Amino acid sequence: MFCENCGKEIEAGAAFCTECGTVVKKEGIKVENENKLIIILIAIFCGAFGIHNFAMGETKKGIVRIVGSLLCGVVGSILAWYDIVKLYKGTYNIDPDAFI
Ligand SMILES: [Zn+2]
Repeated sequence: MFCENCGKEIEAGAAFCTECGTVVKKEGIKVENENKLIIILIAIFCGAFGIHNFAMGETKKGIVRIVGSLLCGVVGSILAWYDIVKLYKGTYNIDPDAFI
């Protein structure tokens, strides 16, 4: 991994560049193709409860989905459809620290 600002090599997992102090952007984990179809199917059938998020290790997102669905069923479904579209396009990045 290299710094976007100064080009210096940065240790993997570092939060910022030791040379210029630029904050390092976290690289998301892509969903592997062989898992993509399964994750999309889980998201279609029980995405409103964040089951697909838990399956990808995104516990925080999963909890937000469950709470959203309990408070207002539509919220979880909208968030799930948003995930399905991104999964389908291949632009979904797995981020265990994200909430939405
Ligand atoms: Zn730098």
